[in-house]
Amino acid sequence: MAECRIIQSPRRLAGGLQRADGKALSLSQPLMQMNPPVLQLALPDTLEDTPLERWSIGDQIEAGQPLFTTQEGITQACPRTATVESVGTGKTLSGSPTPCRLLNLTVVDPDPPRQPSLTPLPANPDGRTLRQRAADAGIVGLGGGGFPAHLKWQHRLHTLIVNGAECEPFLTADEQTMRLRAPAIWDAVVALMSALSLQRCVLVLEDNKPEALAALQAAYPSVLDAQDVCITVIQSQYPSGAERQLIWLALGLEIATTTSPVEHGIVVHNPVTLAALADALHGYPLTDRIVTVTGPSIVTPGTFQTPLGTPIDLLLSQAGGLRPGHHNVFHGGPYTGWPISNTAAGVRATTACLYAAPVVSQTPSPCIRCGACAEVCPVHLQPQQLFAALTHDQLDEALHVGLSQCLECGACDVVCPSNLSLTKTFQDGIQDHQLQQAEKQRADRARTRFEARNQRLLKRSEADETRRAVRRERSGSALDRIRAARAEETH
Ligand code: SF4
Ligand code: SF4
Repeated sequence: MAECRIIQSPRRLAGGLQRADGKALSLSQPLMQMNPPVLQLALPDTLEDTPLERWSIGDQIEAGQPLFTTQEGITQACPRTATVESVGTGKTLSGSPTPCRLLNLTVVDPDPPRQPSLTPLPANPDGRTLRQRAADAGIVGLGGGGFPAHLKWQHRLHTLIVNGAECEPFLTADEQTMRLRAPAIWDAVVALMSALSLQRCVLVLEDNKPEALAALQAAYPSVLDAQDVCITVIQSQYPSGAERQLIWLALGLEIATTTSPVEHGIVVHNPVTLAALADALHGYPLTDRIVTVTGPSIVTPGTFQTPLGTPIDLLLSQAGGLRPGHHNVFHGGPYTGWPISNTAAGVRATTACLYAAPVVSQTPSPCIRCGACAEVCPVHLQPQQLFAALTHDQLDEALHVGLSQCLECGACDVVCPSNLSLTKTFQDGIQDHQLQQAEKQRADRARTRFEARNQRLLKRSEADETRRAVRRERSGSALDRIRAARAEETH
């Protein structure tokens, strides 16, 4: 039987949090299947046309049929055979003031037998074929980033890291996938290593996932025996699953925040993304994902195999609903999640977790300079300094003391005795900086275009002047010749 090398990482994250992880709450139940009667899919803002330009109200769309293709080339397939109910605008998940376009579908058969809608690929597809398939099957980062997988593979790569850390408390979608779909994860690793000519693969797990480790070991394929593949076990500590922290824990390599891992030849994928990629190789586009529904306010926490577009309300009620009282429902986990204001909205590809907790009113008080936030910061920032700069509108000062390096991990919030919204302030500061950068780039581009236009006009006027001079010269010579001829005739 093939065996994968297991390595204990000698490295440990500086700072970070070690808290009770709450994962047992949702893992105590088997994975449950959601079969919603309706779906609501948010359409990307960048789409030029809408599905209603292709379909009319009442038309039937088959499961797996393409709904739309994004600017990045990602095609979203229809999750179930359904009829078009309406297309309109509505509230986003976060309740942002800008409404989004929504496609509402009524499911024809909520529990159909699964059929591939793409042609299954032969074994060992080449890089180009794999990239195209990932785009056609809608494969994006399902860990929460949502970045199109095929775009990462355009770089020259040598190492694949599978991010099975899932370090945030309560989140279990990755762990459930590693327990239940270990063969699919390895299938995707085999395909990626061959298609992208990768030299090594490191699958990283926290040491609180022994069942996932056993499942991965049991499913390890002998075809990888000749390759440089290992499972690296790291200590459970938040935020070990942040991309740069994970790479350092796995390889001992520090990646500066000014560059991305793919520029260093390293591609990081989440186990859920790899399982979806394995399905895509067999002809199944991304239509469903595992969602953890958990938190102290959920009656029966669990993990759910969920079609994209499933209304969040339905998913919450499938988990027994919310306990009596006032609760917040977050998209994501307790540290990095953001509040959902419209629970009628549909699940997205990036919805790894719905976390619900009682509303706690915490009045912020002034910073007491206790230094607790700096102790837990995994990138050695002084969050209290960042906070002071940003609350005094000193963005440049905040950038000077490292704002761009902030992971937005929320660890500082958890320990702050003054209940300050540190991470939210940093997120706003980072967003302001990005807007400024985008504005500067736009202005730079406009200036470059303006200067190029002036150059063109100058060259054109110089060329016109030269032509005029030549014409003058020619007509002057012709006139001279005529005068000379006349003078000769007169003589
Ligand atoms: S933890 Fe809170 S109170 Fe303590 S130094 Fe940091 S910001 Fe100030
Ligand atoms: S949110 Fe930023 S400042 Fe706070 S602990 Fe995380 S990385 Fe450090």
